Amino acid sequence: MPMPMRRSAVRFVFAVGFTLAAGITIAFAAAASPAPAAPPAAPARDFVLAAPAETPPAPVATALKGITAEALGARVQFLASPTLEGRGLGSLGLDAALEYAASSLMLAGIPPLAPADTGAGAGADAGADAGGDARAIFLRYFQPVPLRVITGAGGELAVDTRRDDAVMQRAFASGVDAILEPARLGTISAPAVFAGYGIREPDLGHDDYKGLDVRGKIVVVRRGTPEGDAWNAAALRGRYDPGDADDRWEAKRETAEALGALALVGLEGDGFAARLAERDAVLTTWWLPADVASAPIPVVRVSPLAAAALLGADSAAAPAAAARPLPGVTVTLRTTGTERAVVSRNVVGLLAGSDPALREEAVVIGAHVDHLGRAGDTIFPGADDNSSGTAALLEIARAFAALPERPKRTVIFAFWTGEEEGKFGSGYWVRHPGWPLARTRAYVNLDMIGHPWLREEIEKLVSDARLPDGAAFLAAVKTADFAEPGLPADAPELEAALRWAGPVSGMALHLDRTDGTHGGSDYRDFARARVPFLRFFGNFFPAYHEPGDTAETLDPAQVQRMARLVFATAWHLAAR
Ligand SMILES: [Zn+2]
Repeated sequence: MPMPMRRSAVRFVFAVGFTLAAGITIAFAAAASPAPAAPPAAPARDFVLAAPAETPPAPVATALKGITAEALGARVQFLASPTLEGRGLGSLGLDAALEYAASSLMLAGIPPLAPADTGAGAGADAGADAGGDARAIFLRYFQPVPLRVITGAGGELAVDTRRDDAVMQRAFASGVDAILEPARLGTISAPAVFAGYGIREPDLGHDDYKGLDVRGKIVVVRRGTPEGDAWNAAALRGRYDPGDADDRWEAKRETAEALGALALVGLEGDGFAARLAERDAVLTTWWLPADVASAPIPVVRVSPLAAAALLGADSAAAPAAAARPLPGVTVTLRTTGTERAVVSRNVVGLLAGSDPALREEAVVIGAHVDHLGRAGDTIFPGADDNSSGTAALLEIARAFAALPERPKRTVIFAFWTGEEEGKFGSGYWVRHPGWPLARTRAYVNLDMIGHPWLREEIEKLVSDARLPDGAAFLAAVKTADFAEPGLPADAPELEAALRWAGPVSGMALHLDRTDGTHGGSDYRDFARARVPFLRFFGNFFPAYHEPGDTAETLDPAQVQRMARLVFATAWHLAAR
């Protein structure tokens, strides 16, 4: 998971209410004399207390108790072991982790997802359709994910400026004045156009492309958003200037691509040098999906020096410089490297539902298995990212399989590959679903569930929300027993499941409304495909994406809390 924006930026427009877990809703009138210029109040209904809880059916209570810190810890010890070398994409360590997941599903008695073309229906039992050949069964847990890898990746950006008969040529090398993002090998050369911030937000009456024709051109845009409070809304910050530099240009790339541009040049401004200094800034190994005919248009981030060559020194330094064609300026982007095909794999198991009708609907629960791998002698174990989610999903799957009576709907357990490099496994599934998206009642994502919120963060959340009875809420919340699931704004079924599952698993919740289309984990492509999704995530911590994210630093008891919450939520979605 890339780094999302800090919590303080997340809170905005709300109604006023307070929902007790038992579903009693008592609306509180907004404070008589609102504080001057305070942000609008949060919908108190999004705060869920951990008590009182409805008594779950006995088998569900037993299943919850069966998800233990001991078992989770044991799984994390293996997944985050240096022996797996950080489970990098394309590595043996990742292959071993994926096969561990498949054999764990097999051990739990969870059949593989019958490939769609076998004609075997959702109710098919592994034994029945694989004729009892263990190897054949084992191999059917894997969904191949075709990828391209470019090694020794690099290239340059050249800017030719024609003035009368003279042409000034300047080249900016990757890793010096340009950071090239993963892109197909080749050369693109086209006239350049400056499109301001490169944003179209009709709701705000803002369109940087107004009057510009960028078809077949290379578009140059500025980082961030225009000034003004309206642009501080979390959804806009998340879209145009998320905490994670990797995703910073994504939305602007999509806008330029939709308007026919061939490539996007992002002016990083003063932050360029700092970005360049970051460990993973200049990638020399690029991964791309192999199943999409047209790869996304390339993005190149450039330094102030390159910006001046493109726009002229004055404009480059002027944030309000207007969008305009750049007559006489031609940009050429050359990417170099060695490309080869690699097939990674998703692992998928399926438990058919017990109801003849409702079994045609499925709840898909997913967690990525891959992590950053190794860089030279340095290994990135990825204990929290995402051994915690993988271990939890394996225990959740085992708990579902052990239920004396299956839930009415089908439950699918998906272990994704390639999340760190581009959400490749989940993206491939959304493009080639082993189960129809239209019959997917919800996608539930687990990523980094091992670190709790800090007390002061919960307190800030409550005060930012100006929760009418915040003191009572805080008094009732144990810090470690708090989580903030993410879900779309209008998702009554998901909300009902969370309202039930939070108290049943002893967790207080804040429901974080997000559209997820620029989300930092595997729910992104489900959100884009308009599949109702739930994001389960714990918290960031100093060793995030560092070698220090080790099994020793992860508290299995925290993973247990979140795993039980996810099990209860998924059970409610599958059974009710
Ligand atoms: Zn992750």
